[in-house]
Amino acid sequence: MTDTRAQKFILDKKGNVIGVKARLADGAYVNFSEKATILASGGYGANRSMLPKKVAQGLFYGLDSDSGDGLKMGREIGAGTINLDLVKQYPQGVETTPHHGLAATASSTDTMKKSGAIYVNSDGRRIVDELQGLGTLTDVTKAQKGQIMYIVMDQAAWKEYVAKSLEDKLVASEADLYKWEKIVNNGRPVMAEGKTLAEAAKKMGINAAQLQKTVDRWNGFVKAGKDADFGRKVLKPLAGGPYYIVEQKVRFCTTLGGLKANGSMQILKKNGRPIGNLYGAGCVVGGANGADSMTAMMNSWAIISGYVAADSAVKSLKK
Ligand SMILES: Cc1cc2nc3c(=O)[nH]c(=O)nc-3n(C[C@H](O)[C@H](O)[C@H](O)COP(=O)(O)OP(=O)(O)OC[C@H]3O[C@@H](n4cnc5c(N)ncnc54)[C@H](O)[C@@H]3O)c2cc1C
Repeated sequence: MTDTRAQKFILDKKGNVIGVKARLADGAYVNFSEKATILASGGYGANRSMLPKKVAQGLFYGLDSDSGDGLKMGREIGAGTINLDLVKQYPQGVETTPHHGLAATASSTDTMKKSGAIYVNSDGRRIVDELQGLGTLTDVTKAQKGQIMYIVMDQAAWKEYVAKSLEDKLVASEADLYKWEKIVNNGRPVMAEGKTLAEAAKKMGINAAQLQKTVDRWNGFVKAGKDADFGRKVLKPLAGGPYYIVEQKVRFCTTLGGLKANGSMQILKKNGRPIGNLYGAGCVVGGANGADSMTAMMNSWAIISGYVAADSAVKSLKK
């Protein structure tokens, strides 16, 4: 059953859903007849052809199962859609395969709290109080050339980065992190190590002379006990080499748009009327959040909308 892929809705003459056509693992097709159908097929983040151009170029860290099948099936029978251009974005992504990568947020955030690591842009300049929240870091990253920033670490900071990456099982071993030095996108590696700051900066395509000035300035702030540029609270120095630099890209996984539904989670036609016998739950239904979502909102949305959809479907059967 888990290898069975829903393909199409089966409709009666009035356009009500009366079942689903599906493909079995062996390639055979089967029709399921149902009095009520709940569509809960997730989002479309893995389907680049369904994403707006500006998002499709970004780094997706979700699952291949976010195929957009349900959105396609709904549209084929005339369902309305909402907010298809919106995705939930986060900072600190690492592009380990083209357009796909890791959510390395905890590694970077933890390192910032415990060390003198800093974020810079490709000009080698600091751009933010590194302890700001994820929303600010996302916006700041998007504002940089190439929508990219970098975490610059000394040995002490790198130790923290490695420890958190292993604790969170971002990678299986420290050796896996060093493999990032060999992953190259657009002519630049995902990560670089250098005996000197200049060596690491050059590998990453960062202005090395400016980066040295930035690090000197940062160490000056640490001595003075005040970050005069951005007011960061934790002040530790960036000591001598070796240095480590890891890219920090905007990443997304959850799509915020999808099919239109009403408060009973009935899927709606373009004219706003419900499609008979069809309910939706989770990411396949759009518009619950607007342009962004609160922490844990996506899982909550899947659970609550699933409850409401099931309740509505059962009630419709009792009528
Ligand atoms: C790495 C990661 C971290 C996340 N962290 C958080 C978090 O901290 N907080 C939070 O709130 N949310 C988080 N999310 C998002 C959250 O997990 C999703 O929004 C939520 O799981 C969506 O639930 P859903 O039921 O709509 O879809 P899914 O959980 O994606 O389930 C959809 C299912 O439908 C199946 N399917 C698709 N097409 C077909 C088809 N044609 N036929 C049959 N089956 C099909 C898929 O295989 C899948 O099993 C995270 C997501 C990821 C990937």
